[in-house]
Amino acid sequence: MSETPILDNHLHLDPVNGRGAEAAAEFADAGGTHLLVLNKPSWYFVDDVDGVEAFRETFEITCEVVEDATEELDGRAWPVLGVHPALISRLVEDGYTPAEARDLMQSGLEVAAEFVADGPALAIKSGRPHYEVDDDVWAAANEVMRHAFELGSETGCAVQLHTEGGEDFEEVAEWAEDRGLPRERVVKHYSGGPVEGPIPSVIANKDALEAAASEDGPFLMETDFLDDPERPGAVLGPKTVPRRVRWLTEQGYEDALRTAHVDTPARVYGIDTEATLDE
Ligand SMILES: [Zn+2]
Repeated sequence: MSETPILDNHLHLDPVNGRGAEAAAEFADAGGTHLLVLNKPSWYFVDDVDGVEAFRETFEITCEVVEDATEELDGRAWPVLGVHPALISRLVEDGYTPAEARDLMQSGLEVAAEFVADGPALAIKSGRPHYEVDDDVWAAANEVMRHAFELGSETGCAVQLHTEGGEDFEEVAEWAEDRGLPRERVVKHYSGGPVEGPIPSVIANKDALEAAASEDGPFLMETDFLDDPERPGAVLGPKTVPRRVRWLTEQGYEDALRTAHVDTPARVYGIDTEATLDE
């Protein structure tokens, strides 16, 4: 039995093309206890996204692999479901107008919010492209993200964001607050250290972690493991968060580790990573 919770706040498990729950077992062997599992972008599983059913199918696959992953853990896994921001570019290339792409992606988020309201999912995921896009696509992407905040507020759940890099996301946090979602329920996935506005989910590189751990603020840790056999070296492996937890312990960051694996998860998602260690 693990004594202290170790949470990877953002990874993917792909039971169709990748290792699925086996990767969760590897995480557990290294000392990991809790996982937030993000659905892979819908285009990995279903060829055509021409309706919300493709999203629903993707979400169901993720909920199933999360159940299998939980079997492997001293703690448990939860799904975080959403629509990948890069989908907007694929849709526009396929002939959708930005407004049509926005509508479809917003409908996908509504399905994700249903999965939260009905029980299996913990949070939703949205954001905007991390690369340059035309102004009308950018505007539509921001509307998708603001819709996610509205849904998070109505459903009472957190929103993970995939966005461009950088540190200043104050405006984004204000958009969330304007829609009734507290900024501390907004998580900036793939952060390189502290950020302004949302809560940073820090990629488990030593420099990024040390930057976050040496400040007092809330933060989370993640690998963004992709579980993609075609891109094995593209991302950090599932053992990375537990390994970095050991390294941070050696560096004397016990308090920051409690922040990242107990206090921040409670604050952002309302989950108790200690009480769920016995499950
Ligand atoms: Zn990811």
